[in-house]
Amino acid sequence: MTSVYPKPLRRLVHLLSRLPGIGEKTATRLSIFLLKMPPEFLRELGNAIAAIPESVIRCSKCLNIADEDPCALCTDPARRDDLICVVEGPSDIVPIEKSGEFRGRYHVLGGAISPIDGVMPDDLHVRELTERLGLGGVSEVVLATNLTAEGEATASYLAGVLKPMGLRVTRIAHGLPVGADLEYSDEISVGRAMKGRREL
Ligand code: ZN
Repeated sequence: MTSVYPKPLRRLVHLLSRLPGIGEKTATRLSIFLLKMPPEFLRELGNAIAAIPESVIRCSKCLNIADEDPCALCTDPARRDDLICVVEGPSDIVPIEKSGEFRGRYHVLGGAISPIDGVMPDDLHVRELTERLGLGGVSEVVLATNLTAEGEATASYLAGVLKPMGLRVTRIAHGLPVGADLEYSDEISVGRAMKGRREL
Protein backbone atom coordinates (compact mmCIF):
# COMPACT_ATOMS: atom_id res chain seq x y z
CA MET A 1 0.00 0.00 0.00
CA THR A 2 1.24 3.44 -0.83
CA SER A 3 2.58 5.54 1.99
CA VAL A 4 0.27 8.43 1.15
CA TYR A 5 -1.99 7.22 3.96
CA PRO A 6 -1.25 8.03 7.60
CA LYS A 7 0.27 5.27 9.71
CA PRO A 8 -2.88 4.37 11.76
CA LEU A 9 -4.79 3.84 8.54
CA ARG A 10 -2.00 1.73 7.06
CA ARG A 11 -2.04 -0.39 10.21
CA LEU A 12 -5.80 -0.91 9.91
CA VAL A 13 -5.49 -1.86 6.24
CA HIS A 14 -2.73 -4.31 7.12
CA LEU A 15 -4.88 -5.96 9.81
CA LEU A 16 -8.07 -6.08 7.76
CA SER A 17 -6.28 -7.60 4.78
CA ARG A 18 -5.49 -10.64 6.93
CA LEU A 19 -9.19 -11.54 7.03
CA PRO A 20 -10.40 -14.21 4.57
CA GLY A 21 -11.51 -12.87 1.21
CA ILE A 22 -10.21 -9.37 1.95
CA GLY A 23 -7.40 -8.17 -0.26
CA GLU A 24 -5.50 -4.93 0.17
CA LYS A 25 -7.90 -3.07 -2.11
CA THR A 26 -10.97 -4.06 -0.11
CA ALA A 27 -9.13 -3.47 3.16
CA THR A 28 -8.32 0.05 2.02
CA ARG A 29 -11.91 0.69 1.00
CA LEU A 30 -13.19 -0.59 4.35
CA SER A 31 -10.66 1.50 6.24
CA ILE A 32 -11.66 4.67 4.42
CA PHE A 33 -15.30 3.83 5.08
CA LEU A 34 -14.57 3.38 8.80
CA LEU A 35 -12.90 6.78 8.86
CA LYS A 36 -16.24 8.35 8.05
CA MET A 37 -18.15 6.47 10.75
CA PRO A 38 -19.06 8.13 14.07
CA PRO A 39 -16.52 7.56 16.89
CA GLU A 40 -19.17 5.70 18.99
CA PHE A 41 -19.59 3.11 16.24
CA LEU A 42 -15.83 2.62 15.98
CA ARG A 43 -15.52 2.23 19.74
CA GLU A 44 -18.36 -0.31 19.81
CA LEU A 45 -16.83 -2.25 16.90
CA GLY A 46 -13.45 -2.22 18.61
CA ASN A 47 -14.97 -3.38 21.90
CA ALA A 48 -16.93 -6.18 20.20
CA ILE A 49 -13.74 -7.46 18.58
CA ALA A 50 -11.71 -7.07 21.76
CA ALA A 51 -14.29 -9.04 23.77
CA ILE A 52 -14.11 -12.11 21.51
CA PRO A 53 -11.34 -14.00 23.36
CA GLU A 54 -13.15 -13.83 26.72
CA SER A 55 -16.81 -13.87 25.72
CA VAL A 56 -16.95 -16.41 22.89
CA ILE A 57 -16.24 -19.90 24.14
CA ARG A 58 -16.46 -23.38 22.67
CA CYS A 59 -19.20 -25.74 23.78
CA SER A 60 -17.46 -28.73 25.36
CA LYS A 61 -20.12 -31.09 23.99
CA CYS A 62 -20.55 -30.12 20.32
CA LEU A 63 -17.46 -27.86 19.91
CA ASN A 64 -19.61 -25.12 18.41
CA ILE A 65 -18.87 -21.50 19.28
CA ALA A 66 -21.13 -20.37 22.09
CA ASP A 67 -21.58 -17.95 24.94
CA GLU A 68 -22.37 -20.66 27.46
CA ASP A 69 -21.26 -24.24 28.00
CA PRO A 70 -23.08 -26.44 27.10
CA CYS A 71 -24.54 -24.31 24.32
CA ALA A 72 -28.20 -23.59 23.61
CA LEU A 73 -28.34 -26.24 20.86
CA CYS A 74 -27.02 -28.91 23.22
CA THR A 75 -29.42 -28.04 26.03
CA ASP A 76 -32.58 -27.45 23.96
CA PRO A 77 -35.06 -30.05 25.33
CA ALA A 78 -37.04 -30.00 22.07
CA ARG A 79 -34.20 -31.62 20.11
CA ARG A 80 -33.51 -35.33 19.60
CA ASP A 81 -30.53 -36.74 21.45
CA ASP A 82 -30.20 -39.84 19.27
CA LEU A 83 -29.43 -37.89 16.08
CA ILE A 84 -26.13 -36.08 15.55
CA CYS A 85 -25.26 -33.96 12.54
CA VAL A 86 -21.54 -33.55 11.85
CA VAL A 87 -20.50 -30.29 10.17
CA GLU A 88 -17.16 -28.73 9.28
CA GLY A 89 -17.68 -25.32 10.87
CA PRO A 90 -20.10 -23.27 12.98
CA SER A 91 -21.38 -21.36 9.94
CA ASP A 92 -22.60 -24.62 8.35
CA ILE A 93 -25.18 -24.97 11.12
CA VAL A 94 -26.97 -21.79 10.05
CA PRO A 95 -28.48 -23.06 6.74
CA ILE A 96 -29.35 -26.42 8.33
CA GLU A 97 -31.20 -24.66 11.14
CA LYS A 98 -32.94 -22.36 8.65
CA SER A 99 -34.08 -25.37 6.61
CA GLY A 100 -36.02 -26.68 9.62
CA GLU A 101 -35.30 -30.26 8.48
CA PHE A 102 -33.05 -31.22 11.35
CA ARG A 103 -33.97 -31.32 15.02
CA GLY A 104 -31.11 -33.29 16.50
CA ARG A 105 -27.77 -32.26 17.97
CA TYR A 106 -24.60 -31.10 16.21
CA HIS A 107 -20.91 -31.84 16.25
CA VAL A 108 -18.46 -29.30 14.81
CA LEU A 109 -15.29 -30.84 13.35
CA GLY A 110 -13.35 -27.61 12.97
CA GLY A 111 -12.49 -28.20 9.31
CA ALA A 112 -12.10 -31.00 6.81
CA ILE A 113 -9.35 -33.46 5.98
CA SER A 114 -6.98 -31.88 3.47
CA PRO A 115 -3.52 -33.46 3.18
CA ILE A 116 -2.40 -30.65 0.85
CA ASP A 117 -3.07 -28.11 3.59
CA GLY A 118 -1.64 -30.44 6.21
CA VAL A 119 -5.04 -31.09 7.83
CA MET A 120 -5.29 -34.68 9.02
CA PRO A 121 -8.03 -36.39 11.11
CA ASP A 122 -6.05 -35.72 14.29
CA ASP A 123 -6.31 -31.98 13.62
CA LEU A 124 -10.12 -32.20 13.68
CA HIS A 125 -12.50 -32.89 16.57
CA VAL A 126 -12.84 -36.56 15.60
CA ARG A 127 -11.69 -37.98 18.91
CA GLU A 128 -14.28 -35.82 20.71
CA LEU A 129 -16.91 -37.21 18.35
CA THR A 130 -16.03 -40.86 18.95
CA GLU A 131 -15.85 -40.24 22.70
CA ARG A 132 -19.26 -38.62 22.59
CA LEU A 133 -20.74 -41.46 20.55
CA GLY A 134 -19.08 -43.98 22.85
CA LEU A 135 -21.31 -42.73 25.67
CA GLY A 136 -24.24 -44.30 23.80
CA GLY A 137 -27.76 -43.06 23.09
CA VAL A 138 -27.07 -42.07 19.47
CA SER A 139 -28.67 -44.07 16.67
CA GLU A 140 -27.81 -42.01 13.59
CA VAL A 141 -24.93 -39.75 12.58
CA VAL A 142 -25.63 -37.46 9.63
CA LEU A 143 -22.43 -36.44 7.84
CA ALA A 144 -23.07 -32.91 6.60
CA THR A 145 -19.53 -31.96 5.62
CA ASN A 146 -19.30 -29.92 2.42
CA LEU A 147 -19.71 -31.62 -0.95
CA THR A 148 -16.16 -30.65 -1.88
CA ALA A 149 -13.24 -33.08 -2.31
CA GLU A 150 -12.14 -32.36 1.29
CA GLY A 151 -15.68 -32.73 2.64
CA GLU A 152 -16.19 -36.04 0.81
CA ALA A 153 -12.83 -37.36 2.02
CA THR A 154 -13.78 -36.41 5.57
CA ALA A 155 -17.21 -38.07 5.25
CA SER A 156 -15.77 -41.35 3.98
CA TYR A 157 -13.09 -41.30 6.67
CA LEU A 158 -15.73 -40.77 9.36
CA ALA A 159 -17.98 -43.46 7.91
CA GLY A 160 -15.06 -45.87 8.19
CA VAL A 161 -14.59 -44.97 11.84
CA LEU A 162 -18.22 -44.78 12.90
CA LYS A 163 -19.85 -47.72 11.12
CA PRO A 164 -17.85 -50.31 13.07
CA MET A 165 -19.33 -48.66 16.18
CA GLY A 166 -22.70 -50.02 15.06
CA LEU A 167 -24.15 -46.63 14.16
CA ARG A 168 -26.35 -45.75 11.23
CA VAL A 169 -24.24 -43.30 9.20
CA THR A 170 -25.92 -41.14 6.57
CA ARG A 171 -24.66 -38.52 4.15
CA ILE A 172 -26.49 -35.48 2.84
CA ALA A 173 -26.36 -35.28 -0.92
CA HIS A 174 -29.53 -34.94 -2.90
CA GLY A 175 -30.37 -31.38 -3.85
CA LEU A 176 -26.93 -29.87 -3.48
CA PRO A 177 -24.54 -29.51 -6.40
CA VAL A 178 -21.14 -31.22 -6.29
CA GLY A 179 -18.56 -28.88 -4.82
CA ALA A 180 -21.13 -27.07 -2.69
CA ASP A 181 -20.23 -25.27 0.51
CA LEU A 182 -23.10 -25.55 2.97
CA GLU A 183 -22.38 -22.11 4.29
CA TYR A 184 -23.18 -20.52 0.91
CA SER A 185 -26.12 -22.76 0.01
CA ASP A 186 -29.74 -21.72 0.37
CA GLU A 187 -31.79 -23.35 3.10
CA ILE A 188 -34.24 -24.98 0.64
CA SER A 189 -31.41 -26.94 -1.02
CA VAL A 190 -29.88 -27.76 2.34
CA GLY A 191 -33.29 -28.88 3.62
CA ARG A 192 -33.72 -31.14 0.59
CA ALA A 193 -30.21 -32.52 1.09
CA MET A 194 -30.98 -33.28 4.73
CA LYS A 195 -34.29 -34.94 3.88
CA GLY A 196 -32.73 -37.01 1.10
CA ARG A 197 -29.74 -38.20 3.10
CA ARG A 198 -28.67 -41.73 2.24
CA GLU A 199 -27.06 -44.43 4.26
CA LEU A 200 -23.33 -45.00 3.78
ZN1 ZN B 1 -23.11 -27.49 22.15
